[in-house]
Amino acid sequence: MSLKSEILIEAYRLASQPWRWLRQWRWTRSGRYPIVVLFYHRVADTNPTDWTISRAGFAQQVDWLQKHFELLSMDEVHQRMRKGYNDRPSVAITFDDGYAENMDYALPMLAERKIPCMYYVSTSFILNQTYFPHDEQLGLQLQPNSVRDLKRIVQWGLDIGAHTRTHLDIGKVTDVQQLEYELGGCRRELINLLNVPVEHFAFPYGQSHNFTAQAIEVARRLGYKTVSAAYGGYNHLGDDPFFIQRVHGDPSLTRIKNWVTLDPRWTGLHPDPAWLSAAKHTTAEAFRPWSDANPTASEEAWRPTLTSSASSTATTETCGTATRSAIPTSLFEHSPQQPGSNSVFISGR
Ligand SMILES: [Zn+2]
Repeated sequence: MSLKSEILIEAYRLASQPWRWLRQWRWTRSGRYPIVVLFYHRVADTNPTDWTISRAGFAQQVDWLQKHFELLSMDEVHQRMRKGYNDRPSVAITFDDGYAENMDYALPMLAERKIPCMYYVSTSFILNQTYFPHDEQLGLQLQPNSVRDLKRIVQWGLDIGAHTRTHLDIGKVTDVQQLEYELGGCRRELINLLNVPVEHFAFPYGQSHNFTAQAIEVARRLGYKTVSAAYGGYNHLGDDPFFIQRVHGDPSLTRIKNWVTLDPRWTGLHPDPAWLSAAKHTTAEAFRPWSDANPTASEEAWRPTLTSSASSTATTETCGTATRSAIPTSLFEHSPQQPGSNSVFISGR
């Protein structure tokens, strides 16, 4: 990010600080302090991409977060959302995809500091040791985690979440058996490999067009506690505790400070498209314990040719942007805008 942008954002944050303090004081008293969930992908000092943050940059952010926020697990986020009560500044740290380089610095650092972390992985890349299509498009061959890595992550006390088997664009999937294969199969593989509960799911790419009401319902039925998007937004107490909004772990600490301290322009707004708002609230929470280690009949009935077709679907997918009309965002954008849309935060991968 340019120095000019950094200065503008910092100036805006400082200028809006009185408003932020007032709102924070009210939320603390009412127990309705919104929860922020950050998502990162890869912490490394080589091959920088839009979804990479340097080791020093990540350490700087974690230092700042640890100093100013209570850092929560996704289970705790879910619990507080269910109770509808949170009386303090709270942030959760998550990772998507599963890059081997995270083992070198980021994850051991979090484990050593006993900071909770949800690590969402796509199992086919771990089991087959193949590269992510979005990296190969850039000519990069970035190693995914191994099963051994995941076992170490579990030993360190960090949490493992599901991110589909093949990292496909769920928004393009209409076959319920394929959804069960991707959402339920990923979970079952992780449970069988690691023997730990896998109760949280994150949609690949994470924009509002990268999932459907049908996919949300399948995830509910499979017994996940939460599904996460990646198009920005805060988790307001009283919102559906099943559907978690996440904010991009941007490499710029200035931008993170602005977002995580609850940017006044976004705190009262919900960026969901209408269909998603409806999907989130039409069904009651229906939790069931996950005890079935075997595929469902319908999931077994769907067998892929998927690896090639789904991957090719995914490779054509680009970073999307969520729409939220009437919000001035020009100061803060760093991703290309789509026609007719205002980009909110940044996209997932
Ligand atoms: Zn991803």
